[in-house]
This record gives sequence, structure tokens and C-alpha cells, in this order.
Amino acid sequence: MTDPLITQLSPMPEDWQRALAVVAHPDDLEYGCSAAIASWTDAGREVAYVLVTRGEAGIDTLPPEECAPLREQEQRASAAVVGVSTVEFLDHRDGVIEYGPALRRDIAAAIRRHRPELVITLNHRDTWGGTHWNTPDHVAVGRATLDAAADAGNRWIFPELTEQGLEPWDGVRWVAVAGSSSPTHAVDATDGMERAVRSLLEHRAYIEALTDRDPEEYVREFLIGFAREAGKRFGGRPAVTFELFPRAWA
Ligand SMILES: [Zn+2]
Repeated sequence: MTDPLITQLSPMPEDWQRALAVVAHPDDLEYGCSAAIASWTDAGREVAYVLVTRGEAGIDTLPPEECAPLREQEQRASAAVVGVSTVEFLDHRDGVIEYGPALRRDIAAAIRRHRPELVITLNHRDTWGGTHWNTPDHVAVGRATLDAAADAGNRWIFPELTEQGLEPWDGVRWVAVAGSSSPTHAVDATDGMERAVRSLLEHRAYIEALTDRDPEEYVREFLIGFAREAGKRFGGRPAVTFELFPRAWA
């Protein structure tokens, strides 16, 4: 039931065709919002993924040179489950991504290549809510993605991109931040949830290193629990939430 004392989230905009998701690590989108991505690709929309690192520092028992190709493979498999076939890697170093012009330029270049109307990223805020501290990679990539949505449309900030043949793209209308502690919008997760579970399960090596629990039980409990909790603010429907930053002022 909808509690009248709880502010309800708005439905995400639907009048767009292309989205680009930019996150720091393999698994960020699968923990964050892949049920929404599944329902978007079902509706015939195009979604591409850009990973700033290969997540090579993510598994304690695997050295980075062995971990990187494994996590890349898991990311491509998990994207395919939700209808995403374009997965690119920017090859910044996992764990020490630096916020700054180099990161903004690399993300702006990706936005110019893909020309999305909607850009998706992961929580750029200091915490996940309360005192659950976020990681520096997520903060850096989230902030740089919010900035790069504007940088991509400016001919003069990174003139080297135009010289490489990447013309400015000022068509980003929104940046949607998944996993934010201050969400404003949501997508019904009902139809996409099973694929979201299977998509996260593709990160099997990572999950098996993370927990001793049965991977499927762990993944189901995590994703369904979050969606149910979010649903309290979305008319009781299981939901994936976003903090939406519109770019158009007109
Ligand atoms: Zn991450």
C-alpha cells in the first residue's frame, strides 16, 4: 500500500531512444539498475555500457592481470542477459580512478561516440545513505559523468576530440544516477527482475569471492529486497530508483 506520508517517486521519462551507462566497475550496473535496463531494451531502446576500469582490483585472491580478463568476460555476459551488446572499457586503473579533466574527456568522448539522450551512472555521493561510505571510484566516475554530459556538447573544452573526428553532442537530456540516497524517479522492476538476477549472477567469480552463501540466494535476496524497499515509494510496485538530473532548462 502507498503510505501518504512517504513522498512518491516519479516514473522515469520514456521519450528517448538511446542511453549510455557509464560506471567504474564490472557489476556496478548489475547491483544498481539492470532490471530497468532489461525493460528498456524490451521496449526497443538501445543501451550501451562504458566501464571505466576492468575491475581488476576487485578479487582479493586473484592478481589484477588474471582478474581483468575474467571480469571483462563476466561483464559482457551479464550485459547480454539484459539485451546490451555494446560494452566498452576505458582502462583507468581500478581503485585509484582520479576525478579530473582526463576522466571527463574520456567520458565525453564516449558520449560523443554514442550520442545518447539519457546517460546513466552510479551513485556519486559520499555515502549510500547514512554512514555507509561510498568508494572513491564511484564518486569520481559519477561526478565526472554528470560533468561530461555537458562537456560532450562543448566544442572548446576538449578540442582534441573534435580533431579525432568526434563532433560535439549536446543531446543529453538527463543524467540518471542509480543507487543514489536521494532518488527522485523510478522504473517498475517487475518485468526485468528475473533477468536482473541472472545478469548479476554472471559475475560469478566476483560473487563467490565475496560471500560463502549460495550465489543465487544471495543475489535474489539483495536485488529483490532493494526493489521491494524502493517500491514503498513507487505505489507498492518493486522498483529501481534513480536520482534524475535534467539538462534542459528551456
Ligand atoms: Zn563498483
